[in-house]
Amino acid sequence: MPTTTPRPRAVLFALILTLAIARLAPGLAATAPDIETTTTNVPQTADPLKITADYPGGNIIYDKIEENTVFLHQDLRDTAGWWFYWNFQAENAAGRTLTFQFTDGNPIGVLGPAVSTDHGQNWHWLGPKSVSGPAFRYSFSQNEQKVRFSFAIPYQLADFGRFAATHTPADHFRLFTLCESPKGRPVPAARIGKLTGDPKHRILFTARHHACESLASYALEGVIDTVLSDTDHGRWFRDKVEILAIPFVDLDGVEDGDQGKNRKPRDHNRDYLGDSIYPEVRAIRDLVPNWSDGKLRAAIDLHCPWIRGEYNEVIYMVGSANPEIWKQQCVLGEILEKVQTGPLTYRASDNLPFGKAWNTGANYASGKSCSRWAGELPGIALSTGLEIPYANANNKTVTAETARAFGRDLALALYHYLKEKM
Ligand SMILES: [Zn+2]
Repeated sequence: MPTTTPRPRAVLFALILTLAIARLAPGLAATAPDIETTTTNVPQTADPLKITADYPGGNIIYDKIEENTVFLHQDLRDTAGWWFYWNFQAENAAGRTLTFQFTDGNPIGVLGPAVSTDHGQNWHWLGPKSVSGPAFRYSFSQNEQKVRFSFAIPYQLADFGRFAATHTPADHFRLFTLCESPKGRPVPAARIGKLTGDPKHRILFTARHHACESLASYALEGVIDTVLSDTDHGRWFRDKVEILAIPFVDLDGVEDGDQGKNRKPRDHNRDYLGDSIYPEVRAIRDLVPNWSDGKLRAAIDLHCPWIRGEYNEVIYMVGSANPEIWKQQCVLGEILEKVQTGPLTYRASDNLPFGKAWNTGANYASGKSCSRWAGELPGIALSTGLEIPYANANNKTVTAETARAFGRDLALALYHYLKEKM
C-alpha cells in the first residue's frame, strides 16, 4: 500500500526565494510575476523583503506584492477541499507596515494571526483588530528582522523535544520510537506513570492525527505534567495508571507544515479500517491491544475543530455512536466541569452527541476514526475525540499556557473518574 502521496514540492522550494520590493519603485514591484515562474528576475534591493517557510511547520504560497500589500495563500497540498493552515516568516521588513492579504478564502482565525519574534520559540495572538477580512496588518519595529506569522500557535517535534527534556526519562517517563514515518522520521511515543509492576488502569492519548491541530499538543503536555507532578494527584497516577501517549500520529505532516485534515487518499483519522496505509496507525493498531492487556479504561484523541463559528469556539467531546461510551463521555464531562480550575472553561453541555451537526454516520463513511476503533477494544469504558479550539474557547483565549492548564484539568478529571467510577 502506498504510504506517501506526492505533493507539489516545487512550490515549497520556490517560496524560499527572495522577494525584493522596490520601495522607491512600487510600480516595478507591482508587476512582479508570480513566484512560481520567478526565481531569478525578481528585482533586488539592498533591503529585500523575504517570505520564507523553509522551517518545520512552514506553509505558504506567495502570490505577489503591490506596494505594501503582500498577497499569499495557504498551501493545501494533498488536502481534499479547503483548509486554513499557514505559517510563514517575513524577513527584512523592519520599520515597515505591511498588509498580508490571503487569496484563497479567509484562513485567519478569530484572534488574528499568531506572531513570533524569536524564531518560533514564543507566540502571541496579534488580535482581531489587526484583521480586515482575509487580510492582516503588521507594523514591524526597527529591530524586528525576522517575524513569523501562523494561523495558530504551532507545536512541532522540537517543542515536544524541549518538553520531554524537562522530564528526566526515568522510572515514570520513558520515550520510545513508535515506528518510522513514511519519510523516515522516528515517530516518538511515551509511556508515563506506573511503568514497573502492573498498573491498575491504562489510558491512551493520541494527538495530531490532523497535522495542523497544534493547540491540542499543549493540552497533552498539561496531562503529562500532572501525572509527573510532585502532588497527590501525580503520586496517585504514578502508583495506579500507565499512560501511552502518541504526540504526533502524522509526524511528517506536522514537520512539513501540511494541513493534514482531509488528506488524500485517506485522512489519518479514518485509517483505522481494513489495511491502514500509514505506518503510525498500523503501529498503534499493533501496539495498543497488546499493551492494554484488558486495563485500558480510556482513550482520548486530541483535536482542534474548524476555524470559527458554532461548535468551534468551545471545548467539547465528540459523542460516540455507542450509547454506553456516550454515557461515560457525559460522566467524565460532568466531572471535568466540576473540578476544572484553569482559565479555559469546559461545559459538558457543549459535547456534541452523535447524530448532531457534523457528527453523523456520513462523516465516517470513508473509514474508521481512532476513537471509534479504540472504543471497540476489550474492557475500555471511555473513548473520545476531544476538540480544543485554536484561539477562542468559550470567550477565553487559547494559548500554549491556557491549553496546558486545560490539560491539567483534564488529568484531574481523569483522576476522579478512575478513582470514583472504575
Ligand atoms: Zn482533527
